[in-house]
Amino acid sequence: MMQNKTYIKEIFTSVQGEGPYIGYNQLFIRFSKCNLKCKYCDTDFISNLTQYTPLELFNKIKSVKNIHSISLTGGEPLCDIDFLREFLSLIKENPSNNSFSPKIYLETNGTLYNELEKIISNIDIVSMDVKLNSSSNNGDLYRLHKEFIETAVKNYKEIFLKIVFDENISNEEIEKSIELAQKDNLLIILQPKMNGKELSSSNDIITRVYNDFIKKYPNVRLIPQVHKFLNLR
Ligand code: SF4
Repeated sequence: MMQNKTYIKEIFTSVQGEGPYIGYNQLFIRFSKCNLKCKYCDTDFISNLTQYTPLELFNKIKSVKNIHSISLTGGEPLCDIDFLREFLSLIKENPSNNSFSPKIYLETNGTLYNELEKIISNIDIVSMDVKLNSSSNNGDLYRLHKEFIETAVKNYKEIFLKIVFDENISNEEIEKSIELAQKDNLLIILQPKMNGKELSSSNDIITRVYNDFIKKYPNVRLIPQVHKFLNLR
């Protein structure tokens, strides 16, 4: 039988620096593939990769203590769906591992909904990016995002939407983002785009965008990337 293997970019514990779980200690597992090409992407998908089977990765992390959750991040973790399915089963379903049962927090670009369906039962929290064409340059991903949200919601999973924006965000993008969230009253996290450790837009622009959202939809929080201010990973 062929073994599932994949390349992992890095494994580390740190403080979650984005969204409503800011400040929680997480074990981050960074996957090394992605199906999109965002123009602001800062992930190096080529160097310093280590190959693991699901069991090898499980054995490596199973003794980690004092974490709130495991963050599956990337890249796009769902590009490694066969590997993930096996890895998550080891964490969630093996009765001999009862002492190690962290929540599973998926950071995703919200496009691979068929893959999500295959592992959703073993995911606890979904942090889904809404990729705006104005800042990420991926074209219109609305239909994929909609299917993705429906997959999480119909499986009764916690999901929130994270929107990285800059001054180029359009009214149409604001309307469509709200449309994605409002059917299920999902929380929208507005995250101003950064250039390194600096905000890429002025305070006036950030405030204008925030107000444009909240006057149409109140379930919105404006939260920058805190780990960059704190010099954390
Ligand atoms: S979805 Fe994330 S990892 Fe993939 S290209 Fe965009 S920013 Fe990079």
